[in-house]
Amino acid sequence: MLVALFGNPCLTYPNLPMNSSPEELAVLAERMYEGTLRYYGGLGLAAPQVGINKRLFIVDFNSLNLIPPLTAWKSDIAHLVPPVSPNIEVFLNSEIIEHSEDTEEMEEGCLSFPELWLPIRRYKYIVLNYNNLLGIECVLDTRNYPEGSMLARVIQHEHDHTQGVLFLKRATKSQREKRLYILRMYRELYRNKWRQLPPTVITPDPLHVFANTGS
Ligand SMILES: [Zn+2]
Repeated sequence: MLVALFGNPCLTYPNLPMNSSPEELAVLAERMYEGTLRYYGGLGLAAPQVGINKRLFIVDFNSLNLIPPLTAWKSDIAHLVPPVSPNIEVFLNSEIIEHSEDTEEMEEGCLSFPELWLPIRRYKYIVLNYNNLLGIECVLDTRNYPEGSMLARVIQHEHDHTQGVLFLKRATKSQREKRLYILRMYRELYRNKWRQLPPTVITPDPLHVFANTGS
């Protein structure tokens, strides 16, 4: 799937709740992971970044050396889980219900902003309420994971996408001003554009069910 670049309005459209069947979600999540996230080596990807204005994102736990919650208890319910990579967790309709007082700053990138890195301040831990691939309501506390602050950062970044908020907005004014020239150039170059994948990765998109209905 192609990734929307900065300036593409689908990145900031309002996003609707995601209520598709586990089978449909698994197809979408696999395409987002195998066809896009894995190719770019990113840690997470949100549906609005692939032009689907729904509140869904995936995180590659494997790249963080962690086991996704669904995979952790999958053996009991293996017969219920549609085929999806054991490396990822699918987050639907997420909500941050608690977070640390403390924040920390780290350089962050985004697949929708090629080659741009910005120091971004994020909460050290978060508690997230979400529905998983099966529609089951889950609570994830990043303090339960080793290196949980990195997981907290990735989730905050992707959760922001589902709220139409880009990481740029989380950077300080002075950091944004330092990069104003680049950002103006991005906006001109990339408006309504999609980050291209090699021709071998591009396939016709049969997921009409996920057509953009967010605007
Ligand atoms: Zn991003």
